Amino acid sequence: MRLGETAGKTDAGRKRRRNEDAFVLEPPLFAVADGMGGAQAGEVASRLAAAALREFHEADDLAAEERVRAIVQEANRRIYDRARSDAGATGMGTTLTAALVEREQIAIAHVGDSRAYRIRGGRLEQLTEDHSLVADLMRSGRLTAEEAETHPQRSVITRALGTDPEVDVDTMTVDASPGDVFLLCSDGLTTMVPEDDILELVADSPSLEAAAGTLVKAANREGGEDNVTVVLFAVESGEAGLEETLVAGDGRGSDDDLEDTLAGLEVPASLHATETTVVAPPEEAGWPRDEPEAREEPEPPPVPRKRRRHWRRRLLWTALFLAFVLLVVAGALWGLSRAYFVGADEEGNVTVFQGLPYDVSEDVGLYRARYVSRLHASQLSAGERTELFDHELVSYDEARARVDRYELEVGP
Ligand code: CA
Repeated sequence: MRLGETAGKTDAGRKRRRNEDAFVLEPPLFAVADGMGGAQAGEVASRLAAAALREFHEADDLAAEERVRAIVQEANRRIYDRARSDAGATGMGTTLTAALVEREQIAIAHVGDSRAYRIRGGRLEQLTEDHSLVADLMRSGRLTAEEAETHPQRSVITRALGTDPEVDVDTMTVDASPGDVFLLCSDGLTTMVPEDDILELVADSPSLEAAAGTLVKAANREGGEDNVTVVLFAVESGEAGLEETLVAGDGRGSDDDLEDTLAGLEVPASLHATETTVVAPPEEAGWPRDEPEAREEPEPPPVPRKRRRHWRRRLLWTALFLAFVLLVVAGALWGLSRAYFVGADEEGNVTVFQGLPYDVSEDVGLYRARYVSRLHASQLSAGERTELFDHELVSYDEARARVDRYELEVGP
């Protein structure tokens, strides 16, 4: 028994401008992380998780399941520390589903709604249980699988790395036999592609590399609503023991590269968490991008100015222009006065903002705080934060009502 082919692929999908997923393909360790949080915080969170895992290389006395649990806890601590020390990263978090192969066994650790599957004997078995709102509702019988697929809150997770100093990690050990294929994936795959199709696409692929590409394509063909990430590895019969692969360090993802990559994704401290602020990640990070490079228009050649002064015409044009500007400004102010959204201020207090959740620059935002709650973002669960900080524009009363509801829940 030995580890066979491996493959990993991630894609931003067709609707998201950024890819907040990350994966680890460092045999015998594999993982998928799906980050969340405004600005670039989601990317930072999932990449911090991946980085913590990649640092795993020395075998110790711990059994595989305990080791992978410890690695996930370490990843959690790092993300949590970062989220606390960096105002722009408040509320960031990530899912993490990791698999560690040791001899004939696969140790799996899991937090969130990324999944691990085993494909064996023409069947796809889901090994992990989602930590998500809809999974809870399904387990309690209040939602059917079909209803869950279209539930508006199907992406709300109930557990994540980075939101608390300690995280509750689900772990398990499953056996592996020759011919088994294991799949780790983010919800961008499972919410887009039915399980029967996933199984068929993998079975029909000539290689796992091809299967990874086909699965990502299928998710995009079905709409590509979310970032999609897949990691596949096969177990096959053979002489070489799996222990061989336990010897670490194949040179990929060295710490130096990683630091560079993470540095490029630093979250500006002044940013309120907004999904809409885009700061392009550095090119060398190789992070998938779906927007073309902004091209600088060449300066137009200077136009020779006429000597004669058509001052009347100029005056008219100036007046028209000023009127137009006034109209635009008035329109914008009118719109802004009716737009409120819920977010968190720089101290992390839940806040009702008036305006639009955009930052013009690091210091200038199109919004101002109108109500600062005594409720702190850290008092909410990751799921509640996702729900409350969706930045939907509503009336002031509605925004206050939403905050009041959580204030009541949390208590004084
Ligand atoms: Ca996702």
